[in-house]
Amino acid sequence: MGSKIIAANWKMNLSPQEAKRYFEEWVTYAHSTKVDVIFFVPAYCWQQAAEFSVAWGPQHVYCEEFGAYTGENSPKVAWDMGARWVLIGHSERRHLFGEGEELIRKKFYKTMEIGLKPVLCVGETWQQRESGDWDRVLENQLQSVLQGFDQVRGTLTEWVVAYEPVWAIGTGKVPSEGDIERAHFKIKNVIEKRWGLPAIPVLYGGSVNVGNASTILKTAGVDGLLVGGASLIPSQFYRIVQSS
Ligand code: PEP
Repeated sequence: MGSKIIAANWKMNLSPQEAKRYFEEWVTYAHSTKVDVIFFVPAYCWQQAAEFSVAWGPQHVYCEEFGAYTGENSPKVAWDMGARWVLIGHSERRHLFGEGEELIRKKFYKTMEIGLKPVLCVGETWQQRESGDWDRVLENQLQSVLQGFDQVRGTLTEWVVAYEPVWAIGTGKVPSEGDIERAHFKIKNVIEKRWGLPAIPVLYGGSVNVGNASTILKTAGVDGLLVGGASLIPSQFYRIVQSS
């Protein structure tokens, strides 16, 4: 693949005013980044992301373009406003909001049909890891979302996987480099063997910070990062981006 991808997931943080200030600072750094940087921002900050011409995407959309879906975000409107990426299957959506595999699958194909590039998040819980079968969990999550892929492959845009162990998100705990490498190659092998796609980038996410970003980025099989808490202060996030 080409350059590394470093994505920020702001979660439900930063107001539109704070987003504006963030991007005002960010654009003073952005000319010197060699990597692809993407911002996943709350829906009320889409406008600010669009105004500053950064690469951005919603953290959450529905699997329909319009209709009686109170409280949902339209992927079509996100696209029309300039989004080119979308987060799908983040563990907070799966575990806090009960998003199941079927909904995740529908969103994956719908967003691709519109032209958005999904970042599909997969990862095991601590319990699944302790059971020793965590690579099977990753395989099942991929299988469940990609089972319709053969029918639509010719029409689809690019996509990316983010390996985010649930127990590492927001906890300060990070898997060993060997475990990250093993998970990334497992994901790549499953996608290549089953769907014949050798070049899907796999990002690592879960408690990335200024101190560990460089080591994780140098780990074999890591094509970039998905950064939550440490992406909220632009100067700090920029240091992570510079680690690549
Ligand atoms: C995330 O939310 O995708 C994430 C990786 O969070 P954090 O970096 O805060 O662990």
